[in-house]
Amino acid sequence: MNHVELPRTELFIDGSWVAGHGDGFVVQNPTNGSQLAELHGADAADVDHAIAAARRAFESGPWNTMSGADRGRLISRLADLVEENAERFAGLEALDVGKPYKDALMVDVAMAAETFRHMAGWADKIQGSVIPVPDHMGKARLSYTERLPLGVVGAITPWNAPTMITSWKIASAFAAGCTVVLKPSEEAPLVTQLLAELVAQAGFPRGVLNVVNGPGNIVGAALIEHSGIDKLSFTGSPEVGRLVGIAAARAFKPATLELGGKSPQIVFADADVAALAPVAAISLFANSGQTCAAGTRVLVHRSKLDEVAEALAAEAAKQRLGNPFDPTTTMGSLISERQRNRVVDYIDAGHAEGARLIAGGGTPDRPGYFVEPTVFVGDNDMRISREEIFGPVGTIIPFDDTNDAVRLANATAYGLAAVIWTRDINAAMIASRGIKVGTVWVNSFGPPHPATPWGGMQTSGLGRELGLSGVLANTEERLVNVVY
Ligand code: NAD
Repeated sequence: MNHVELPRTELFIDGSWVAGHGDGFVVQNPTNGSQLAELHGADAADVDHAIAAARRAFESGPWNTMSGADRGRLISRLADLVEENAERFAGLEALDVGKPYKDALMVDVAMAAETFRHMAGWADKIQGSVIPVPDHMGKARLSYTERLPLGVVGAITPWNAPTMITSWKIASAFAAGCTVVLKPSEEAPLVTQLLAELVAQAGFPRGVLNVVNGPGNIVGAALIEHSGIDKLSFTGSPEVGRLVGIAAARAFKPATLELGGKSPQIVFADADVAALAPVAAISLFANSGQTCAAGTRVLVHRSKLDEVAEALAAEAAKQRLGNPFDPTTTMGSLISERQRNRVVDYIDAGHAEGARLIAGGGTPDRPGYFVEPTVFVGDNDMRISREEIFGPVGTIIPFDDTNDAVRLANATAYGLAAVIWTRDINAAMIASRGIKVGTVWVNSFGPPHPATPWGGMQTSGLGRELGLSGVLANTEERLVNVVY
């Protein structure tokens, strides 16, 4: 694919494309530093207008009276449109994020369409329950619950997987009957502009989705502090997630926080190293390591240390860094110079703390923000093992027995995901029970399926997206007592 049609550049408010009153900003192609587009930026008044539009759509627009089945039809139509525009989405994601086009097409865009498809099915199935209770003051009592949409959701997304993560947020909010004001990452906003075009094309009532672009500390901050927002839904770093959580707590509103990770992959002594290595490498290097669930701490039974080190070094050597549109490319660039420098600093820290480099460690001599797939052998106390790098850097760490593996897996501030590699069902179950994470994979790894809940423990976040849990997170329960 050589030519990708760029989307609109304005803000999307109340069903129209409108000029922003904040500073415009340039969107860059991170694989060569060239300018892709200049987008309008919002100011606080634009955020106000977007929230007012979402409020009108929620309280008095056709969205408010539409049946769940009709909402589901619109979400399904959006799934169709994402599929019809799959190549354009993948092209924009490849240009904007720097990830391989084929990965964007096969993973991000496919999962986004699947998410809309799945959530469409929930729209008419959000139910309360009847609770058996005794009579009240000598009269019969009927007690039942209803699930009400929370209202206007303020959603903020990161740059690493914008097509997929944006779909998670808006599909579940729409299924629950909420409206959304969305602030995409200023580093990769293009696919969200396309999504807004398709929301309009699908026939969603105006104001159901509003998109306000601009920097986090201005537009994001205006959104999270705004009294017109009923729920916050954030994916990004723990540092900003904490600000979002505090803003939500101050205003007594719910927040779903999907934050970072430092996920363990535990390789037991009986594991089939040749079979696991290519998948373990995907977990480490997919999207150049810029995935929240990346299995960056490879905990290996001491008897297998050399074998795993050799296999992962060989997988790293197989990676082909380059143009995301070249079908032989397996790794693109990082998102920005800042991110590349951050990752290089971590590689330096690995050397300084005495980790043994077994693959990569450098930056290729070419334009763009590339970093080689890098593997160290080290220990769990090093900075490269404790802090989220968000780049293609993994550390192999030895363990002695199952208890030791679980202890090391839990010796982290995070708790997003874990991978367990073993053919021993007992070891898998003991480890799975013992590890404090939101998702456990046994003998594989991949993106979350939209039917299953996704979220973390500890510094990895609060609450769940996707699946029924993700839909219900956009609702509030109300109890009704009828005495007769
Ligand atoms: P980030 O926290 O820097 O930015 C995320 C979003 O928050 C952006 O839209 C940004 O503009 C906005 N923002 C920044 N400052 C803000 C403020 N003061 N108020 C309101 N909004 C503000 O994160 P990032 O660098 O874009 O993404 C990387 C992080 O996201 C990593 O930590 C990664 O692990 C995490 N992540 C988590 C998941 C998950 O599902 N758990 C998925 C993807 C990424």
